[in-house]
Amino acid sequence: MDGFEGNDGVIIIAATNRADVLDRALLRPGRFDRQVYVGLPDIRGREQILKVHMRKVPLDERVSPSIIARGTPGFSGAELANLVNEAALMAARSNKRLVTMEDFEQARDKIMMGAERKSMVMSEKEKIMTAYHEAGHAIVGCLVPEHDPVHKVTIIPRGRALGVTHFLPEDDKYSQSRLHLLGNISVAYGGRIAEEMIYGADGVSTGAMSDIEYATRIARSMVTRWGLSDKLGPLLFGEEQGVYPGTGTKNYSPATSKIIDDEVKIIIDDCYGIAKKHLEDNRDILESMKDALMEYETIDSDQVADLMARRQVRPPREWNDDDFGDTTKNTDVSGESPIGGPANTH
Ligand code: ZN
Repeated sequence: MDGFEGNDGVIIIAATNRADVLDRALLRPGRFDRQVYVGLPDIRGREQILKVHMRKVPLDERVSPSIIARGTPGFSGAELANLVNEAALMAARSNKRLVTMEDFEQARDKIMMGAERKSMVMSEKEKIMTAYHEAGHAIVGCLVPEHDPVHKVTIIPRGRALGVTHFLPEDDKYSQSRLHLLGNISVAYGGRIAEEMIYGADGVSTGAMSDIEYATRIARSMVTRWGLSDKLGPLLFGEEQGVYPGTGTKNYSPATSKIIDDEVKIIIDDCYGIAKKHLEDNRDILESMKDALMEYETIDSDQVADLMARRQVRPPREWNDDDFGDTTKNTDVSGESPIGGPANTH
């Protein structure tokens, strides 16, 4: 960095996503001494980024970057580039000359929920169990306050999951309320509780592992990082970072550690109880949603709305332009997942 004296007017710009671990020598005055924090793009940013990447692919005239931007809250620039790329691949795979909105919808589902593994053979028994599990997530998601609308529920295996319930926030959200977080925890347990109700405590599967991990992480963060525990108050309880990995020390006492564990347990137990109540009160919907999943394998937000209202389930909808994201119909809930990923899947 030194030795540029003869080159006044040369400005060096660099990018990193780990500004916290940069060598201090790099950050001395005269070197990289200014930092500009670039956050995730908002809806207008996403639209512009999409337009840049779309220049390289032949687009159907109905493709609308603004609609896609609306349906991709939380996507980074790289993820948007990937979305355009995946959509182009989808179109190429079905020998289409132009990339359509449908391809973008499929590409987004693939990125958010993992690739479909239609070839994976699941036994009928496993499929039914998965249907109950996912219906459990979806029903609790529709009933807890301030939760994101259900976008899709599927029992087609995607990525490592046997089934996926996908919630999509309605718009860009930059913080979450306590109520929203508690709802997320309840929803995470919906799958396991549904299994338990049908198969009994001994019959449940290991399918809820990532749900449990997710719920525990939120509850722990609420207590230790976000100041949302009445008992402990708005303090940070974390690891002081050591010079070398693994040499960090806790900044709280063993006694506090016990209180943290208790508080986390209280939050989890409350949310578990709420989810259980919702499912027990709506056991008939659990059954009918399981049936719908066995029939269609994937159900969309309109079909979920029918099931929740105990109406006859309409057939899956034909794709149309207003559908991308289609998160505006259930207007009673909103938000975004607090940790990891642009949207919530279970
Ligand atoms: Zn689950």
